[in-house]
Amino acid sequence: MDDRDKRRVGEQIEPGGRPKAPGRLETLQRFVNTYNKDFPPAWDRLGTPAKARAWLLRKRLVAPPVRITYGDAARLRELREALRALVAANHGSAVPRDALETLRREGAGVRLRVAVGPRGATELDPVGRGPDAAVATVLEILHEAQIAGVWPRLKACRQCGYAFFDRSKNRSAAWCAMSICGNRTKNRTYRRRRVRTRAVPSSRT
Ligand SMILES: [Zn+2]
Repeated sequence: MDDRDKRRVGEQIEPGGRPKAPGRLETLQRFVNTYNKDFPPAWDRLGTPAKARAWLLRKRLVAPPVRITYGDAARLRELREALRALVAANHGSAVPRDALETLRREGAGVRLRVAVGPRGATELDPVGRGPDAAVATVLEILHEAQIAGVWPRLKACRQCGYAFFDRSKNRSAAWCAMSICGNRTKNRTYRRRRVRTRAVPSSRT
């Protein structure tokens, strides 16, 4: 994959050609994938207020006119990493305490209202249009995905932390794409084993 393609990962490109998360969960998946630790920090889509503003507008998580400060961008990045930790816990591990604290703090501060459509269908809508509304929408999607039962299928790659949607029957996928991260992990294990095997004869002498 060249740099041009890599820059599109998380938006136009899913590693391994996996289908994206269904429905609105796609927005949360894209939010987590606005950055990947395998990429240069300059590629962070929430890395600066201007970048964060452009991304949030594109996803309709905020509406113009909107101002995103350095503090807002940092807050969004912190929420993103807390969500990544929550997604990573879908492999069966505990959720780290600082991630829970971030999510609880943000969850306590959001404002949502129940909107009723023409046929009586209800929907939770964020109040406002700024960064608070973006946080509210992301947390609302998280809640909705948990109620719908699809949340456990959103996983974080064990190698790079990329959030991918696991459609496998037994929900056993561990890497964003076997061809990239899976092989990398295997190669490392293989190299480690080789080093260990090579070290054995020398340790005997
Ligand atoms: Zn990966």
